Amino acid sequence: MPAKTILHIDMDAFFAAVEVHDHPELMGLPVVIGSPPDKRGVVSTCSYEARKFGIHSAMPSRTAFKLCSHAVFLPPNMKRYHEISEQIMEVFRHFTPLVEPLSCDEAFLDVTGARYLFGDGPAIARKIKAAVLEKTGLTCSVGVASNMFLAKIASDLNKPDGLTIVPDSEKGIAAFLAPLPVKRMWGAGRKTQAILEAHHIRTIGDLQTVAPAKLAAWVGESAAASFRRLAFGIDDRELATASEEKSISNEITFDEDQRDAKVVEAALLDLADKVGMRLRRAGFYATTAQIKLRWKDFSTITRQRRLDPPCCDDITLRETALELFRKEALHSPVRLIGFGVSGLRLTADAPQLDLFQSPEKKTSTRREALSRAVDRIRAKFGRKSIQRGSNLNEN
Ligand SMILES: [Mg+2]
Repeated sequence: MPAKTILHIDMDAFFAAVEVHDHPELMGLPVVIGSPPDKRGVVSTCSYEARKFGIHSAMPSRTAFKLCSHAVFLPPNMKRYHEISEQIMEVFRHFTPLVEPLSCDEAFLDVTGARYLFGDGPAIARKIKAAVLEKTGLTCSVGVASNMFLAKIASDLNKPDGLTIVPDSEKGIAAFLAPLPVKRMWGAGRKTQAILEAHHIRTIGDLQTVAPAKLAAWVGESAAASFRRLAFGIDDRELATASEEKSISNEITFDEDQRDAKVVEAALLDLADKVGMRLRRAGFYATTAQIKLRWKDFSTITRQRRLDPPCCDDITLRETALELFRKEALHSPVRLIGFGVSGLRLTADAPQLDLFQSPEKKTSTRREALSRAVDRIRAKFGRKSIQRGSNLNEN
């Protein structure tokens, strides 16, 4: 499996598709969302039926009318599109917390950490397509790749209802990109395209083979370097959300203030499980665990402890949560309990340490494998399908 799996998901003719879904009598008709044809203004989106007449987004509505006078012109209903957009993003977030929306109908998803739960990239893409269709009745197109640049290019290649998988190997990636026109590349604006065109560089394959010095002379050192990297599909950017996820936490407020330590502990363990699941899905390890306690009079305390080695397994999180809780005297009824982790990182330790694993590290690795197995069972059969004993016994 590749180091990373990134999806780019783009809804098909989104605004038009929502209108057709809400008004089935429009099915099969050329539908144009945007300015009415008798006003100045442009097409925002149009259905695939309208595209057959040469209509496309950003075209003046008047021109669109000339191309297809029997098209149905509708004003955009942004409120409705945003409603559906929220449902779509919610589906995405069910699969990974690492979602970077680009607009209301398009997003990048880093599903690297979700692979152990939902299968490889293509399997996750199929599941998301099915879930979006079930929830909204709409189709989307997905690109599956090892980075954002490739995923974005791929999602656009087989629209509508497409699924395009970019090969993982360097050779496969170069061959995938070679036949595509240069304008597919980020940063290749009209001016640059014209310069490249003048030198007979029309495809990404042409960019792969042109002498670097020549390219630099035409477009400048830095653009040339960036084009060469992209031409071979090299792109190591992280999703904008990936580095922002600094902590994960959950809390609950009791219906009635709780005096019973056993009830509070049960709630705390449940929270620890939920946080652990989110942590593993996001592909992170935590270095700090924290509990939060709010008393009847609304005064609030937090207590935290370092996790060494950094971990993502339920057993350690539960142990730590209980340990922190049991140190506190229950001097008054509990209104709210919370559990969270922070100091998130992508690995449990420095790779060279793996050769000489400490007993703590071995335990932690075994516990992680166990937690992930539980996640898989729960993903298949539901959260209640497997319950842990409160004695934390892992054997
Ligand atoms: Mg779209």
